Amino acid sequence: MLPLALLILLTNLLPLSSLAAISDSSSSYNSFLKCMQKQSQKNVSNVIYSQSNTSYTSVLRAYIRNARLNTSSTKKPLLIVTATSDSHVSATVICTKTLGMRLKTRSGGHDYAGLSYVCDVPFVILDMFRLRSIEVDAADQSAWVQAGATLGELYYSIWKSTNLLGFPDGICPTVGTGGHISGGGYGNMLRKHGLASDQVVDAKIVDAKGNILDRKSMGEDSFLGNPRRWGSEFWCRFVVQVAERCSNNRRRSFHANAPTTVVFYGKRSSITVKSTIVALYLGNAEELVSFFENDFPLLGLKKENCTELSWMGSVLWWNNVQNGTSPDVLLNRKPNSAVSGFRKSDYVQKPIPKSGLESLWMKMIGLVFNPYGGRMSEIPASDTPFPHRSGNLFKIQYSVSWSDSGAEAERDCVTKIRSLFSFMTPYVSENPRSAYLNYRDLDIGINHFGKNSYEEGKVYGVKYFSDNFDRLVKVKTAVDPENFFKNEQSIPILQRVLGKILA
Ligand SMILES: Cc1cc2nc3c(=O)[nH]c(=O)nc-3n(C[C@H](O)[C@H](O)[C@H](O)COP(=O)(O)OP(=O)(O)OC[C@H]3O[C@@H](n4cnc5c(N)ncnc54)[C@H](O)[C@@H]3O)c2cc1C
Repeated sequence: MLPLALLILLTNLLPLSSLAAISDSSSSYNSFLKCMQKQSQKNVSNVIYSQSNTSYTSVLRAYIRNARLNTSSTKKPLLIVTATSDSHVSATVICTKTLGMRLKTRSGGHDYAGLSYVCDVPFVILDMFRLRSIEVDAADQSAWVQAGATLGELYYSIWKSTNLLGFPDGICPTVGTGGHISGGGYGNMLRKHGLASDQVVDAKIVDAKGNILDRKSMGEDSFLGNPRRWGSEFWCRFVVQVAERCSNNRRRSFHANAPTTVVFYGKRSSITVKSTIVALYLGNAEELVSFFENDFPLLGLKKENCTELSWMGSVLWWNNVQNGTSPDVLLNRKPNSAVSGFRKSDYVQKPIPKSGLESLWMKMIGLVFNPYGGRMSEIPASDTPFPHRSGNLFKIQYSVSWSDSGAEAERDCVTKIRSLFSFMTPYVSENPRSAYLNYRDLDIGINHFGKNSYEEGKVYGVKYFSDNFDRLVKVKTAVDPENFFKNEQSIPILQRVLGKILA
């Protein structure tokens, strides 16, 4: 892909016929194929899908996880590359750049705004779903995980190797490790062990020139200071379970400060508001009950409210899988299954007063509160790109989903979520009003195509990355000076022409 500035230049200089050729699917396919063959030195026609390929639509749709972005008017890629090796990834970067198209990388396709498979300009999807091998080394308590593997496959592979190790990753098994780990990645062990990205010790990435690098060859600055830096594989350290039994409980009241993880779900139907607390405790039920008796007696937690399970049992339990079901169920990728949805996020740094909560019940749509603290507060905010550490009580996810395909349903749901977000302003973080990168939300700002503006980038950048934003801009400018890897909310580069130099 040509750098943004250069692409604009070309748009001005090239005759119209050349531009038409760039966006014409079959000629793009032929040029792309030729380039890929040259770069890979082998036949690659079986991994490239043009719009005329009979499997194009099913390959595209398999990992679209938001039906809102799966309509006839949604912009479609000219080509999809289903890479099966690092050399395919590298060749795709080189050839997309050479042909002046935008590259979108998709691992599990769960991006809430579809940034891995939707684009306004001619684009190629680098689809990682076939790069899914996982090598667990139980003795070393680590694993190499390819970016196209799902969380369910990672959990399954760990469980197959040992029942003493787990991994602090997200809940939904179909989420891709590629997007999830590179955007932070939290799950039920957040308070005890931090994020999935906190466990990454090495990674293989492909840079904008197509070079395949690891931590050593990319250098510490690039490794530690670059979100979405990890291209094709991660090397993760696992955490050892402190006990062979975990306890889960469900209660109908709320406190945000429990031993390991408590998730509060709230949902409003037309006549009722339902709230549920779900918690994971790494230990047995007696310990958990006695903890609650001492510190939260009003909750009245009883042993019969708890279920003791192995870590794998708890992974299945959180996914509402019936007790006794084989963990093989985690290998089901459920392609082509999606409802329409819209999500937003917030961070809460001071308790919400009772009056605020009472009004909230009246307005509520789907809400999930994830308590922070514990390990999350111990990791300094500047250690990794993810900045939401000490000082945060909990994160909120606002969610609306709809199954009606009409524009009215979408408008109604999106209006509701925006109105609730606006109502929450006095109760959440400010300057910046922080957001979680993995809960992609284009409402909080976008970098318009053609601009690569530092100012536009800063609007959403400080919400996702807080004080780490300027450091990320510096790293990005150094490693990708042509800004090849970009999307509506990527880190901008410093343009010398604007004279913007950060200290
Ligand atoms: C049903 C559901 C459940 C979820 N549950 C959780 C949860 O429990 N915890 C949590 O933290 N989050 C959760 N999320 C959010 C999820 O972590 C993010 O949407 C995540 O980015 C998805 O990763 P993906 O690979 O599936 O998505 P994709 O759409 O493939 O990718 C997301 C972003 O990462 C980029 N990307 C993908 N792969 C790569 C790569 N290999 N190299 C560089 N960039 C890449 C994409 O271009 C895109 O910008 C959930 C989302 C959904 C839809």
